[in-house]
Amino acid sequence: MPETNSNLSLNLQHKLSVGNTPLLDLSDLGELSKTVKVLAKAEWANPGGSVKDRAAAGMVIHAFENGNLAEGGTLIDATSGNTGIAYAWIGARLGFKVVLCVPDSVNAERRRILQLLNAELIFTDPLESTDGAICEVRRLIEANPGVYFYSDQYNNPENYRAHYATTGPEVWQQTNESITHFITGLGTTGTFRGTSTFLKEKNADIQVIAVQPDGPLHGLEGIKHMETAIVPGIHDPKLADATVEIRTEDAQALCRRTAKERGLLLGPSGAANLLAALRLGETLSNATIVTVLPDSGEHYLGDNFWDEA
Ligand code: PMP
Repeated sequence: MPETNSNLSLNLQHKLSVGNTPLLDLSDLGELSKTVKVLAKAEWANPGGSVKDRAAAGMVIHAFENGNLAEGGTLIDATSGNTGIAYAWIGARLGFKVVLCVPDSVNAERRRILQLLNAELIFTDPLESTDGAICEVRRLIEANPGVYFYSDQYNNPENYRAHYATTGPEVWQQTNESITHFITGLGTTGTFRGTSTFLKEKNADIQVIAVQPDGPLHGLEGIKHMETAIVPGIHDPKLADATVEIRTEDAQALCRRTAKERGLLLGPSGAANLLAALRLGETLSNATIVTVLPDSGEHYLGDNFWDEA
């Protein structure tokens, strides 16, 4: 019997086992009223170690359903970060090739992980950063028509739909429908858009707040300073009720603090999210604030900020 699309989708979801991450109660890190909770999704619990497993799995499953990608096929995208790792392990699991265009500045640890997961890496001029990598993807697709599935995380609606289908419902259920505020950083904007849209449909009073770095030069890997960045095609600028800015140094200080006081190694973007959630919580009463910890600090062990006083 031919496999229907919904059977195929369930079968692939089962194989990948992405999502259903724990919601940690980190309220006691702030000076909060007893009626306020700050809760955080531990996204490092995904099989590939980050929130990007959700978007990558969503884009891949949709491509399988539409016949744009199949076992033996080849996925291409420009990314050196968590999305690259997500594509690579999902490709290994489902039997397709993964080609990643990455700026030659990508750190040795990241390079090794991607190579061990059998991704093919094409290095581009580090001075042109991700824009150079995107140009190389487009050049390869033009030169080799019909060879690649270009998943294009910045413009693919399946990115935020994955969060609408998984992150949003998980947060709603894990808070027993009591969430009042959702606050998280903007990278491709998939996490913010998909989760916020789902939650606002459940309860229009839920406030959704975007977090961004305080300027174009920052160390909050994975999130963008929207005023100066290339804005992702999937970004919905009308969705956020408010936007807050976080300094890199303040997020890094919280990484050191949560490591010492809670035994939690946070990545810098997760610490920025948590700091924004704690600051918001200090201004409120009767609130349940949820944020996202996109990946673990283990991805950043080579960075100097861990040792600063
Ligand atoms: N933090 C980290 C570490 C990330 O890798 C990403 C993904 N770019 C984000 C935050 C932002 O997530 P999104 O792309 O869904 O906006």
